[in-house]
Amino acid sequence: MKRLIEGHKRFLAEAFPLKRGQFHLLAEGQQPETLFITCADSRIVPDLILQTQPGDLFLCRNAGNVIPRAGEPGGGVSATIEYAVEVLKVRHLIVCGHSDCGVIRALMDPERLTGLSSVQDWLRHVEPAWAYVGEVERNAGELTRHTALTHANVLVQLDNLRTHAYIRRALAESRLQVHGWYYDILSGGIEQFDEGAGKFVSLAG
Ligand SMILES: [Zn+2]
Repeated sequence: MKRLIEGHKRFLAEAFPLKRGQFHLLAEGQQPETLFITCADSRIVPDLILQTQPGDLFLCRNAGNVIPRAGEPGGGVSATIEYAVEVLKVRHLIVCGHSDCGVIRALMDPERLTGLSSVQDWLRHVEPAWAYVGEVERNAGELTRHTALTHANVLVQLDNLRTHAYIRRALAESRLQVHGWYYDILSGGIEQFDEGAGKFVSLAG
C-alpha cells in the first residue's frame, strides 16, 4: 500500500503538472474511440503496450476477457459494453486474450478451482473454447494447448458479443468494428485475428 501512496504523490508532483492541459480537457468529458476488453491480469497494461493516453481507451476487464451472451447474467460487463457502444459510440471494440492466462489454465485443469464457486461459475463462459480447438492442438503440449485455447476463447467471446442485438445493429450500420487480439507477455507482441486467413497474425506486421 505504501508503494501506491508514494506513487500517487509522485504522480501529483511530477506527472500531472506535465499534462495539466490534457487533464483539464478530460475533466469536461470523454470521447474514447475504442473499447478494450481484456483480462484482469496485472501484467497487461493497455496504455503501456499500446502507448495510449488518458481518454483513449474505454476499458472493460474481467478474468478471462469474457463477454456474457445476451440473456445471460452479465452484470457490469454487459452494461459497460452497451454504454460504450450506444452512448459513447466507440468505433472499435477489441477483445484481447493473453499468454499464461490463469482462466485458460483453469479451463485446462478445472480441479485447480475446487471450492471457488464464483470462478467455477464464470468459467462456463469460456468452456465453449474447447470446440474451436482442433484435435492436433488438443493433444499437443501444454503451451501449444494454452495458446490455442486462448485464441479460441477470443473467438468465443466475439461470437458472444454478436448475440447482443445492439451490437449486430452497430455492425450492420458500419459504425462499429470488432477485433480479436492476443497479447504475448514474454515478447510484448500482439496478434490480431485475420478473418480472411482464419488465424492470428502479428499486429505489427
Ligand atoms: Zn488472464
